[in-house]
Amino acid sequence: MNAVTASVEREADRLTELDSPIGDADHGSNLLRGFLAVRAALEAQPPSSPGAVLQLAGRTLIGVVGGASGPLYGTLLRRTGKELGDAAEVSDEELRKALYAGVGAVAQLGGAAPGDKTMLDALVPGVGALSTSYRAAAVAAESGALATVPLQARKGRASYLGERSIGHQDPGATSAALLLAALADTAEAVDAP
Ligand code: ADP
Ligand code: MG
Repeated sequence: MNAVTASVEREADRLTELDSPIGDADHGSNLLRGFLAVRAALEAQPPSSPGAVLQLAGRTLIGVVGGASGPLYGTLLRRTGKELGDAAEVSDEELRKALYAGVGAVAQLGGAAPGDKTMLDALVPGVGALSTSYRAAAVAAESGALATVPLQARKGRASYLGERSIGHQDPGATSAALLLAALADTAEAVDAP
């Protein structure tokens, strides 16, 4: 979560810029507000398990972020945390399955599918590639985000633009790729001797 927050701090301006032509220019500021609150909440009351960390992070995002991305990312983290339960340690495989369930919850909440030009265009291929490696997941998510450019948005604010949403990279897919890149960076740092 700290790696995600640091990445959002670095990339907030770019995320907001992406949200200008096909949204309301607040995606970066939404996520920055949300993840700074997540960092503060985790520091104030450090949870005792990975599952509890993700659940607190998810609840905080839902409480703090007004835009669509708050409830969606909040649901991703909360559901993933719920799947992990209160185990003190989780395996890569347990995390993979939990994230898979988390992405399913995002699809259910938002009613979107891959191809609709949303965060799911990065999350679904990203989580799908987790069985290969964390880095493969980050790379797949990044490709998925880039592949949103020619798509017409069918969900969220960008869908109001119809065909005019074509030709722009989706901000939420871009932030989802940042999230999986932060996961890969962290996993590799932990595994390094
Ligand atoms: P808002 O659209 O309310 O201003 P944000 O700008 O923070 O919220 O987030 C916009 C992003 O949220 C979009 O780029 C898209 O990826 C994602 N999004 C919007 N609606 C949905 C949905 N129904 N399902 C999945 N993702 C969505
Ligand atoms: Mg917006």
